[in-house]
Amino acid sequence: MEKEIFLVEGAGFCFGVKRAIDIAFDVAEKHKEGLFTLGPIIHNPQVVEKLRELGVNPLEDISDRLDIKTLIIRAHGIPKGKLEELKNYGFEIIDATCPFVKRAQKIAEKLALEDYQVIIIGDKNHPEVKGILSYAGEKAVVIKNSEEIPYINKKIGIIQQTTQPLSKVKEILNGIINSLSEFEEMRIFNTLCNFTSKRLEATEKVAKEVDMMIVIGGKNSANTNQLANLCRKIGVKTFHIEDAEEINSDWFRGVKKIGITAGASTPNWIISKIVDKIKCL
Ligand code: SF4
Repeated sequence: MEKEIFLVEGAGFCFGVKRAIDIAFDVAEKHKEGLFTLGPIIHNPQVVEKLRELGVNPLEDISDRLDIKTLIIRAHGIPKGKLEELKNYGFEIIDATCPFVKRAQKIAEKLALEDYQVIIIGDKNHPEVKGILSYAGEKAVVIKNSEEIPYINKKIGIIQQTTQPLSKVKEILNGIINSLSEFEEMRIFNTLCNFTSKRLEATEKVAKEVDMMIVIGGKNSANTNQLANLCRKIGVKTFHIEDAEEINSDWFRGVKKIGITAGASTPNWIISKIVDKIKCL
């Protein structure tokens, strides 16, 4: 049976991840030793391995490493206190935090300084959110539904984890607005990242048209899991894979239309390899 492949527009690296990786490869070219990233630069084992071959190693804990010359901060950013602590060590710090994440951090900081209680819509365990929260003052809270809002302050400022789905944010905001009488002032900033929402929308569109979706990206990548969950929710047969080796030809029996999408940490060369392999099945 002739297969048709539909590659989702915008699948793969987002602006912030591409920027962070370009920075890491650029640093690897210029410096030859003592290069580290704080945690893996992105949630993609193949890219992390490529960088490792060039001498850029991920570090979880810097405390006992005296050989650090340059430390790269990944796109998600890190908590304010941690950044200040790192600066005291004296090695070079290259901050590859995505400018969209930086913007959310700055808005959180400004709101806290102006005595707003900062409400962050997002996942409290995600590193990006932990970073933003550290700028948001003591009264800040992270919520994933409108019932979780504590009515401590009369003035609230609402921001979002950059990768939250717009539909979920709208639902939560509606819930908060229903409690308007509890507040004197409510400010809402849009800190969502267009790259993510556009990729989700484009994935949804393709997933509704095909017989099967292949979602490519790290198994520990939140935004790739978000794409896979979206496809499963739509009801289309979905496989989440990291590379071409995981492809099983049995999956494609009787399948005509195949959609392919990929998370923000998936390099184009992995996507192309998978597309080529599927074409040859
Ligand atoms: S998903 Fe958006 S906010 Fe996050 S790193 Fe990519 S471009 Fe930046």
